[in-house]
Amino acid sequence: MVGIEGEAPVIRLRSHNWKPNSELIETTGKRKSSAKPAAAYKKRVEKLDTVFTCPFCNYGSSVECHFNMEKMVGAAVCYVCQERFGTNITPLTEAIDIYSEWIDECERVNKRD
Ligand SMILES: [Zn+2]
Repeated sequence: MVGIEGEAPVIRLRSHNWKPNSELIETTGKRKSSAKPAAAYKKRVEKLDTVFTCPFCNYGSSVECHFNMEKMVGAAVCYVCQERFGTNITPLTEAIDIYSEWIDECERVNKRD
């Protein structure tokens, strides 16, 4: 027993109501992709999607598009096989545009062979 001189034992009345922070992190940290409106007007991908299937390794949603507005260049990068494609962009360019260009480029290369 390690007695604390002259102090009554502390009773933590709140302790059993206290919830760990992890619960808070779970609800705020994850963005739920719930119930997006079905985008029938776009055939393959939704307009706001920024991740795509890699044309090289075919890994789903491994391709991410990055924009550098200062240099006006964009890039699509696959984090699985590290394949990447860079192109010039405009303020109107969207992720899907970069991705589409990449796919076009792949098709061109394939035809050349
Ligand atoms: Zn890949």
